[in-house]
Amino acid sequence: MTNKSNSLTTLTLGYPRIGEKREVKKALESYWAKKISSDELYTTIEDIEKSNWQKQIDAGIDLIAVGDMSLYDHILDWTVYLGLIPSRFKSFTGLQQYFAMARGADGIPALEMTKWFDTNYHYLVPEIEADCQPCNNFQGFLNQVKRGQNILVKSANPIIISPVTLVALSRYEGSLRENVEKLLPLYQSLLEELKGYGITEIQIHEPILVTDETAEVKEATIKTYEIFNQVGLAINLVTYFEDLGNNYGWVINLPVEAISLDFTRGNNLDLLQKYGFPSDKRLGVGIVDARNVWQVNYAQVQDVLETVKTVTTNISIQPSASLQFVPLDVEREVNLPAHLRNILSFAQQKLIELKMLSTEGNGQFWQEKNDKWQSFKALAPHRPGVQEKVKGLTVEDFQRTLSYEERIKQQIKLPIFPTTTIGSFPQTKKLRRLRLNYKKGELSLQEYQEAIDKEIAECIKLQEDIGLDVLVHGEFERTDMVEFFGQRLSGFAFTDSGWVQSYGSRYVRPPIIFGDVERNEPMTIREFKIAQALTDKPVKGMLTGPVTMLNWSFPRADISRKHQAFQIALALQAEVADLQEAGALIIQMDEPAFREGLPLKTALWADYLTWAVDAFRLASAIALPVTQIHTHMCYSEFGDIIKDIEKMDADVISIENSRSNNRTLEEVTTAGYNHQIGNGVYDIHSPVVPSIQQMVKQLEEGIKNLPLQQIWVNPDCGLKTRHWNEVIPALTNMVEATKIIRQQA
Ligand code: GLN
Ligand code: ZN
Repeated sequence: MTNKSNSLTTLTLGYPRIGEKREVKKALESYWAKKISSDELYTTIEDIEKSNWQKQIDAGIDLIAVGDMSLYDHILDWTVYLGLIPSRFKSFTGLQQYFAMARGADGIPALEMTKWFDTNYHYLVPEIEADCQPCNNFQGFLNQVKRGQNILVKSANPIIISPVTLVALSRYEGSLRENVEKLLPLYQSLLEELKGYGITEIQIHEPILVTDETAEVKEATIKTYEIFNQVGLAINLVTYFEDLGNNYGWVINLPVEAISLDFTRGNNLDLLQKYGFPSDKRLGVGIVDARNVWQVNYAQVQDVLETVKTVTTNISIQPSASLQFVPLDVEREVNLPAHLRNILSFAQQKLIELKMLSTEGNGQFWQEKNDKWQSFKALAPHRPGVQEKVKGLTVEDFQRTLSYEERIKQQIKLPIFPTTTIGSFPQTKKLRRLRLNYKKGELSLQEYQEAIDKEIAECIKLQEDIGLDVLVHGEFERTDMVEFFGQRLSGFAFTDSGWVQSYGSRYVRPPIIFGDVERNEPMTIREFKIAQALTDKPVKGMLTGPVTMLNWSFPRADISRKHQAFQIALALQAEVADLQEAGALIIQMDEPAFREGLPLKTALWADYLTWAVDAFRLASAIALPVTQIHTHMCYSEFGDIIKDIEKMDADVISIENSRSNNRTLEEVTTAGYNHQIGNGVYDIHSPVVPSIQQMVKQLEEGIKNLPLQQIWVNPDCGLKTRHWNEVIPALTNMVEATKIIRQQA
């Protein structure tokens, strides 16, 4: 691509693929329900693809990513393009096979799903079986490229997921190198084919290079680009989410035309200044933040660009990663206050920013932006009191008054193997309608609350009948565990259409933290009191923890995440105090997103873990010794951070049981975890009602690993997505299983 005078090349790395009105979700669900044909499904996808390209053309982007559209997940797409089909799916073909791998079918489990680096997007983990014969199945991809070329002509810039990154993220046998080498001939033929199409440049996504460096990855990467180089197609090697770290030195010397780096996270700017950059390569400057929703801070970005230009002037201007991690268009958010909306930038706005950054003489444009930032700052609810409070925190604020061993003597006495649930009970259609009616003003607050209270009463009665030891109110008043609290705190904003894909057809609307966080009034006390008044059994006060609130939101960019987590923690601390005052003997503060905040480089873990643990402690340390603090985490892989989790100093933790091999319990025992733990006795993600025997077996495993007094009995997550006719027999069986175990103990 030749540079026009005074203008830098602009390039994109992927665009949101869900459609402005969530068309893809709707089409997928209709297809699964057999209401539309596969042709209709493809038409939807291609329409969105086309309109995405048009938007990028209209914005004047020079090199436009092609191949970012997906029916479910782009990693699954590449798994299929390469013929990496695990044998259990071989009896299926076509779309049936694709969706069986994504979602399971006929009792055959789907591929495992896991988080895409440190984002909240989940990909399907490829399984490369030892005897797997990869094969060329690129037609779907090539069709996409053809369509792109028809519309974009020379701008079409195909995205290729590198074999190194793909294998590194897979489950495989043997070495990384031999698995990569198996795939190289296929990639080579694909590149040849693209060259034949007249494609000028491709982008190869290689995010694995920002994780801890390993000799294996280095070796496989060097080999790969040696082979790719032989094709004679211009390659842009693309990395994102962090800096190249120790990989920098050798990566910049790989035989490629361009290297793209993220300048919004990590230390790439330092590396660039320290080690220079080859003059014969283009540097892709990922400067427009693809992971957050704030408009470019022009002065800051200019500083970075000026520094970059002291090293090399052969640069392109890009988003830091694919724009799939931000919502589509801020113009739709008519319900946000104007002064906030004016400084937000979603995918559509980011395209304009790219263009404006790439050309000179846009002083007016940036001046207007700057004015908008200024008026936001003047109006934003900054609360000096909160910032002062955070600055004035002392060691005692993070410390419960007695040690775990001392305080549990004072806490509530329960039968051995106490039974409980994680908090939510089924969110029925009726309930959702109720909330909607209230939102629309068709129900008064009083009518709404009466209806909620009726649900609570039925739920308490049910739990008593089943014979659970520790009850919950059921969370019927909550839409979402972060949204519910965010709406009751200052400093959080919510969008109407700010959807971002989490996985497949599941999208989320992350809240935006825009100002200081403070609790305006009690948030959960009314429902707690209603529930506790109905029973002699203890009811848990139920809160969402500070780290999860932060990790599932778009954070502010002007203060640190740590500071934001502490602000949220202080707001929750006030709620803990009020719950205690209202008579709660047990308070649960969920932290399902605690682990996902872990940085990509292990060298950075300690810093995150220190403040994340502190945030939880700050929120909970106000609890009196008699108050039992619980937490809940939606995963069971914490062998590597178990000691940090112990430092959170919760009295009881409940966790997911998906690794049914009980490795978690072994890790917990080996590490010497001393607090109480409820290793979910059944998987709530499945509609299957677990049998008594199955749960007895699960509990027997627990007994082998842990002292009896340490074990709790609970499902592995909240029950809100299940139906009552699944929940009632499941919990009844759980209590029966506990009775059997109690007799054996
Ligand atoms: N208390 C919440 C619930 O039961 C926890 C949800 C979660 O772990 N994600 O729904
Ligand atoms: Zn959970």
